[in-house]
Amino acid sequence: MRKTRPATTRQLRWLLLSLVLCSAFARAVTPVAVTAIDDRVRIGPEHLALLEDPAGSLSYAQVVESWRAADFSPSPASALNRGITSSVYWARLQITNPDATARRVILSHDYAPTDDVRVFTGPGAGDVRIAGDSVAPGHRFRNRVAAFELELPPDSSQTLYLRVATESNLNLELSLWPPMQFQWHEQLLGLAYGVLFGGVAVTVLYLLFAAQLARETNALLLAAYLTSYGLYLAFLNGFPSLWLPAALLPFINTLHLASMGLLFGFGALFFRRYLLLASQCRWADRVVALLQWLGFAVILSPLLSTATLGLILGLVAGLGPLFTIGLAFYLWYRRRPHASVFALGWTIAHLGSMLGTLRVSGVLPNSDLLLHLPAIGCAVAFAFFTWSIATRVSAERVYAYTDFLTGLANRRLFQIQGEMEYDRARRYDHPLSLVLLDVDHFKRVNDSWGHAFGDQVLRGLAQHCQKQSRASDLVVRLGGEEFAILLVETPISEARKIAERLRLAQMAAAPEGREITVSLGISELLPGDRGIEDLLQRADAAMYRAKEAGRNRTELQTGAAGLS
Ligand code: GH3
Ligand code: MG
Ligand code: MG
Repeated sequence: MRKTRPATTRQLRWLLLSLVLCSAFARAVTPVAVTAIDDRVRIGPEHLALLEDPAGSLSYAQVVESWRAADFSPSPASALNRGITSSVYWARLQITNPDATARRVILSHDYAPTDDVRVFTGPGAGDVRIAGDSVAPGHRFRNRVAAFELELPPDSSQTLYLRVATESNLNLELSLWPPMQFQWHEQLLGLAYGVLFGGVAVTVLYLLFAAQLARETNALLLAAYLTSYGLYLAFLNGFPSLWLPAALLPFINTLHLASMGLLFGFGALFFRRYLLLASQCRWADRVVALLQWLGFAVILSPLLSTATLGLILGLVAGLGPLFTIGLAFYLWYRRRPHASVFALGWTIAHLGSMLGTLRVSGVLPNSDLLLHLPAIGCAVAFAFFTWSIATRVSAERVYAYTDFLTGLANRRLFQIQGEMEYDRARRYDHPLSLVLLDVDHFKRVNDSWGHAFGDQVLRGLAQHCQKQSRASDLVVRLGGEEFAILLVETPISEARKIAERLRLAQMAAAPEGREITVSLGISELLPGDRGIEDLLQRADAAMYRAKEAGRNRTELQTGAAGLS
């Protein structure tokens, strides 16, 4: 049976709801004045009344008249972010100072890309001040965001009219600050972004070196992607307004869009190359290639109509991230190479930009968090990508110096490290020995018991070599069934003992009925030697003597004491 609520509860609910609605409406119709402040105050919709000026032609006098004629609309909660619009917006703001002393406050417009913000304190020409990223400021110090210093006389109430015009998304995110706090906030933000840009610069340098030294094209593309991301973040947060020459300020929106174009273009190019999209999924590669060229086309924004630009941005900044994130996860699901780390990094990088698209289109507010989210996402995502490329480069380096079958060092590493050990032994006059080892009749081993068994013998022999030597020695597979051990700080007498232990261990390890023996030759550093190759030649000659003498034995270089 359904429970019916008592009539009084229902009435009480309606009463409460209408009270809330009435109070919200009352607050909206008459904006509340902001009272002089000791802390940052974010100006909310309740503090402002708005007037749309579609042609951008209204004068201050006409706007004041409109207020008197009640043409200003109460501002609903979402009113502060108007999205992309060609209209100009006026806002009316009242600030009171109930104190007996005069106060100074900073009124800041909290969105750096806004082009033109004007504050009117009265009808006179001297009562208007202009700031914004496209206007060269009259004073010596530039600000990252449009900011105005206001004098509040004692016990006063001041009415301001603000006019905001911009090519980017138009919003009326404003804050009132005590002057010191505003400076601190700006300095702290500058410091945080300085650290981020420093990190970007160092990472880009690392990637450029990796690209050059390891011939890693992905590193080069990531460097380009990261540089454009850094530029985009700098423009989004207004830093170029601080250092661009005044002559370039009128082009700041074009440059901001160009940085976005580079970001989208290089992002898509990196995506394609890193995931080897052309060979993994041809049609998806074509789609991402289209996104890439559309992204690069944004650089040409002055040549494009507003509608075309809007369409392109909608595709590359709206649908593009959704498609590529889905694709990255699909490739991860299909266990394609490198897709896992990439999918995570790509999602993090685009979370900020997708929320940013919703913010720019006026769906989400311009909150501090949403504004700085792309920076946080950028730092985390690029740490992922760079780590992934670094492991790839270091893995390739390891492969280049490692023998695939046995995991030992290969001949290339022997040449490099052997030469270093040779120099060291020569300089400090320390002993250095080289043991060369070759499996006897290995061709027969292969022929009799198969190539796979032969491989197993080589792997087992590699393990014996490592067991019999120290960590500081270098064990190498020189090629085929030939191994070498470079014994540092070891005279030939000591090397002979090690070689013999190794020979006996190999004999003992052979399976029943399958005798597999080795022949060894040993050399030692001599005063007339010119490099590690001389030791190798003498050990080789000694090893051939061991073969000629019947195999399964150890021979020393000529001139050294024979085996007793
Ligand atoms: P000797 O006692 O004179 O050294 O005779 P040998 O048969 O060991 O020498 P030879 O140089 O004639 O043959 C070496 C053989 O080693 C031939 C080649 O097929 C085999 N071999 C080389 N690399 C590998 C490998 O990676 N795996 C296997 N299973 N065999 C290999
Ligand atoms: Mg701008
Ligand atoms: Mg052999």
